[in-house]
Amino acid sequence: MNICENIAAVQKTIQRTALACGRQPQEVKLVAVSKKQEMEKIKQACACGLHIFGENYLQEARNKICACPVEIRWHFIGHLQSNKAGAAVKLFDLIQTVDRAKVANRIQHHAERIGKQQNILVQVNVGREQQKSGVVPEDTEELLKTLQDMENIRVLGLMTIPPWTEDPEKRRPFFQQLKELADSLAQKKLFFDSQQVEISMGMSGDYTIAIEEGATMVRVGTALFGARS
Ligand SMILES: *Cc1c(COP(=O)(O)O)cnc(C)c1O
Repeated sequence: MNICENIAAVQKTIQRTALACGRQPQEVKLVAVSKKQEMEKIKQACACGLHIFGENYLQEARNKICACPVEIRWHFIGHLQSNKAGAAVKLFDLIQTVDRAKVANRIQHHAERIGKQQNILVQVNVGREQQKSGVVPEDTEELLKTLQDMENIRVLGLMTIPPWTEDPEKRRPFFQQLKELADSLAQKKLFFDSQQVEISMGMSGDYTIAIEEGATMVRVGTALFGARS
């Protein structure tokens, strides 16, 4: 498998999909999901021009981040426990999975201590699945209002993982819901920059659908790196 070819193919698909629905390709950022992938593949991907990587597990991420070129931007996309917030603040440029005030409080505390403005996304559980993280749509506004008072936190937008469906097309309504929610919260000026709200949705199996529905970040693993170990 040639990672550079995979990257080129995904980037081309992003470009084509964006243009076909009247969007600018550069509005869509590609986050390479490198969890459970070998360092060698990450380095190759980096050499082929990728510069944003997503990781789910802190320990694994710490080792990789230390061994990688400093130009790489790292996003945390896994479930974050409050007691790990300090490590996440040190390591990540963007924490995509904030879903409750408690974890945000810990992020604020640690960011303040090291004088950092921590960029985050709020994870929304659009499918209302019991087993999934994320704030339910109707509680998102209240959470954003709470986050507005935290001086070292910048809420750049929303993120979601829709319910798994056999047919990816069936996930489209969940992407639409996240986009509508983001638009309505932007009208209320609840984001750091409500003119430019980040919407993180879409993975290997459904990123074209997510782009059609307004994604500004797609998180793609398997389509770039192959199956995980
Ligand atoms: C693993 C993961 C991805 C990437 O999934 P692929 O199907 O390999 O593209 C995207 N987002 C999150 C939150 C993940 O955990």
